[in-house]
Amino acid sequence: MVQVIRAETAGFCMGVDLALRKLERLVQNGPAAAPVCTLGPIIHNPQVLKHYADLGVQEIAEPEELPRKSSAVIRAHGIPRDVQDKLAKRGVHIVDATCPKVKKAQMLIHDRTAKGERSLILFGEPEHPEVAGLLSYAGGEATVIEAVDHFERLSLDPEEDYVLAAQTTQDRTEYNRLISRVQEVLGSEVPVLDTICDTTRERQREAADIAACADAMVVVGGYNSGNTRRLVQVVRSLGTPCHHVEQAHELAPEGFAAAQAIGLTAGASTPKEIIDAVEARLHSFFDD
Ligand code: SF4
Repeated sequence: MVQVIRAETAGFCMGVDLALRKLERLVQNGPAAAPVCTLGPIIHNPQVLKHYADLGVQEIAEPEELPRKSSAVIRAHGIPRDVQDKLAKRGVHIVDATCPKVKKAQMLIHDRTAKGERSLILFGEPEHPEVAGLLSYAGGEATVIEAVDHFERLSLDPEEDYVLAAQTTQDRTEYNRLISRVQEVLGSEVPVLDTICDTTRERQREAADIAACADAMVVVGGYNSGNTRRLVQVVRSLGTPCHHVEQAHELAPEGFAAAQAIGLTAGASTPKEIIDAVEARLHSFFDD
């Protein structure tokens, strides 16, 4: 009997779930004539994006592109303050779907740096939209570093006061390494903001646990979804064969011919219905 082991953490995280609920409410109950727009893709899942595009939701890149009287949904990553101001000036109906954990990080940074009293060191990916948003809440100087090693190359002013924060999806172990290094160099009084969301790590830990006892693993999620691709890397790094698919029909029985236990997990932007369909297809390979 072939066993399919499905991860409990597979599928939407709280922030994505909340953002999609807000968009859904707007599509169902908003004024019929007013266009609904999202600033960038609401999530990194092509099937979900197509679903909402078919319902008339428009994806726009800049506030200036918003049609008159439209509703603008801010996605879970949040947006920079100047973009928020532009939205307000345009007089559109704003639906803020920024994840509460990202919001908390923005507010903590603002509270600690608002008067320019401290410079921010932010541990994150420089090109990521969430990082652009977080930086806009810093009242003074701000520097982004991608890795602990980068900190060694910074030319810091020892007379200056600093505060340390991280993008919500950064690895907590790496952040702790950075905290130790920063406090060694700049002193233990440098404040550290607790801005990490452990969702990503818990998902990766469960994927690794399942991969360790499975003959093959399936990871479901957008090919352009960063957190889904990282799950695939985690599984492959353990030597477990891994199939990354967006939808159930991409799987073929030949890929699981010798498997007795198949692991199944999914990225934070993968809908439950798609994961259910993948699980059902895996079971169908062995029904006989
Ligand atoms: S991963 Fe965490 S911070 Fe990011 S949207 Fe999901 S719940 Fe929010």
